[in-house]
Amino acid sequence: MLKFGVRRKGDLRMCEMIKKANSLTPEKTLEEYWDKKIPVNVKNILAGVGIRFRKNDFSELERALEIDKDDAILGLAFSDGDDLGILFSSQIDRDSANYVLAHEFAHCCLHLAPHEQFHVEMKMSSDLYSDSHNKTIRERHNNSHKELQADKFAANLLIPTKPLIDYLSKNKEQRIEDVARHFHVPKEIVRLKIMSL
Ligand SMILES: [Zn+2]
Repeated sequence: MLKFGVRRKGDLRMCEMIKKANSLTPEKTLEEYWDKKIPVNVKNILAGVGIRFRKNDFSELERALEIDKDDAILGLAFSDGDDLGILFSSQIDRDSANYVLAHEFAHCCLHLAPHEQFHVEMKMSSDLYSDSHNKTIRERHNNSHKELQADKFAANLLIPTKPLIDYLSKNKEQRIEDVARHFHVPKEIVRLKIMSL
């Protein structure tokens, strides 16, 4: 018999950190945790919010999941009961790590639920979930919808609107590559941000 105070798996266990993350939008995150410097330092923001993160070698997990040789895990966000964390690949450069951290943080804010027992969001270099071919079209659609949502969140976090407008008004003939270099983000993220303006 269970003693009082012992919580079984399956009991309502709230992850307080997820609850906190769920209340954050990119704008609110910037307002509360950003030092107003460009490039936006996502590691400082995560530390401010209180979400654990670390660099990780995914090669063993990639083998275990039988991930295609041309594909790779770039990062993941996981929740397990009241535990929440983000891992990013040790194989990627600083700008990509910044983007992957922002993308995984977005999943924490948008797609992880405080009551959920266990949840993993994985970011692959092919942008597809490792098991997507086993899923129905609707599930696949939901996955890509979530990925796009997370990327839009990351774009708004990594490219705050005012610094972008200031930059564009001073540099009218910039190519997308220059904007990406200025904000230390991939080009696709600049496109997403500009489309959202
Ligand atoms: Zn994702």
